[in-house]
Amino acid sequence: MGVRVPRALFQQTLDQLRACGNGQSECVAYWIADQDEPHVILRLVHPEHRSGSFGYEVDSGYVTQFFLDLRRDRETVRVQVHTHPAEASHSRTDDLFALAPAPGFLSLVIPGFALGPAVLVGCHLVEIGDDGNWNEIDPEVTIELV
Ligand SMILES: [Zn+2]
Repeated sequence: MGVRVPRALFQQTLDQLRACGNGQSECVAYWIADQDEPHVILRLVHPEHRSGSFGYEVDSGYVTQFFLDLRRDRETVRVQVHTHPAEASHSRTDDLFALAPAPGFLSLVIPGFALGPAVLVGCHLVEIGDDGNWNEIDPEVTIELV
């Protein structure tokens, strides 16, 4: 199922990825939706993480508290968004360390430390299938910018 993302939120996400990554480090953000309306992205979260040009690592204590907060507020992480230095692809590490490896979870990879234009063309999107495998899908079809 696709998701609807306000353009302003998409731009805000790119701004955050750029500000944190500074053209030299990967960065990650999560797109949050209400459990009752999981296709409508409401806000972004920039988690506590370490990173370098090698990748990123989200603080495990942060993740534990984050999920408790989400459950309390009846919210869900629909999409994980992160940058790569150059090409946008989903690495094996990305496959293994997704935040919420459940069917339907989306992972969007933005190339070039998100320094390019605010478009979905050139981004890479994968979705976890019912069989637990990652399937590449078209970001322009699945993510509706409104
Ligand atoms: Zn960051």
